Amino acid sequence: MTTDTFKALVLEQEDGKTVADIHQLNLSDLPDEDVLVKVDYSSLNYKDGMAVTGTGKIVLNWPMVPGIDMAGTVVESASDSYTAGDKVVLTGWSVGEKYWGGYSQMQRVKSDWLVPLPDGISAQQAMAIGTAGLTAMLCVMAIEDGDITKDSGKVVVTGAAGGVGSVAVALLAKAGYEVTAVSGRESTHDYLRALGASEILSREEMSERSRPLEKSRWVGAVDTVGGEMLARILAEMDYSGVVAACGLAGSYKLPTTVMPFILRNVRLQGVDSVMCPFERRTQAWQRLASDLPKDMLDNIGQLVSLEQVEEKAQAIMQGQIQGRVVVDLNA
Ligand code: NDP
Repeated sequence: MTTDTFKALVLEQEDGKTVADIHQLNLSDLPDEDVLVKVDYSSLNYKDGMAVTGTGKIVLNWPMVPGIDMAGTVVESASDSYTAGDKVVLTGWSVGEKYWGGYSQMQRVKSDWLVPLPDGISAQQAMAIGTAGLTAMLCVMAIEDGDITKDSGKVVVTGAAGGVGSVAVALLAKAGYEVTAVSGRESTHDYLRALGASEILSREEMSERSRPLEKSRWVGAVDTVGGEMLARILAEMDYSGVVAACGLAGSYKLPTTVMPFILRNVRLQGVDSVMCPFERRTQAWQRLASDLPKDMLDNIGQLVSLEQVEEKAQAIMQGQIQGRVVVDLNA
């Protein structure tokens, strides 16, 4: 790479289909935003899988450089908030969907979208966290905000071996909570136990249609799946339990009743990382840097090149990825 010519994964539409190719770009091809970043690492999230494989309507502008996450170094800045050499992280704000994203060795972005890389973590570790990890942290903060402590009882994490789920299991276990993981893959059990899960339940069992109220067993929940599983978890919550709902890996529907809310005072907190305000976002990144065991980050993340992104995007859509995929832009 020279600073003026560099590679990027570009998505285009051909006959209504999404085509992904690696292109050589120039700085003049990049959007006109106030900060130029040399991207060191990006990551692969479920949304990136959707964009690269052309599933759903994730991409809003064509051509698109996908990649909803990036970590790198500021090269030029017209903003007072950043100067050349600053290490930065970007997640969300519709980057990789509406605006060009992290699957490019260089990118121009809005300074308002950036967060300084917290002390104590590398750009690679930040991308092992990425949008998925930030979302997991925001879910844990939602549970804490509801005064659910490690002594309150058991917490449950669904889609546990996925990106959000893995980080949520690790964070909750490290904080001393007794964590039950729900996973559809037996092959992930050792991995989930290594992250700190004390019990593992099958996806099948937790997807069975529940009665309006079931025997209560959870004080807190991080749900990445939605659908029948979220409905079952709501029906199984203890009095005043908190459910942080952030995903739809199973379904966007929620076939529940009002019973958990009106008879058990259950609290359902939605979690969005995309438009999360700067202060809470920065606080969450700082918590991730201080609370998440660094060796777990190495366990959670697998490193791939830009050339491997397409293949991994297919895999994430088929639910075959364990943990997080980190994209090394210089590999
Ligand atoms: P991953 O694909 O890494 O993980 C999803 C996990 O869900 C899978 O690994 C699998 O876990 C489980 N799963 C997959 N399909 C099904 C199914 N049909 N029924 C039940 N479980 C299933 O994705 P991410 O962790 O990156 O994202 C998880 C969800 O969170 C997605 O829906 C994503 O869109 C959403 N999300 C939301 C954000 C927000 O800001 N609200 C931000 C980031 C993600 P296992 O094999 O263990 O069962």
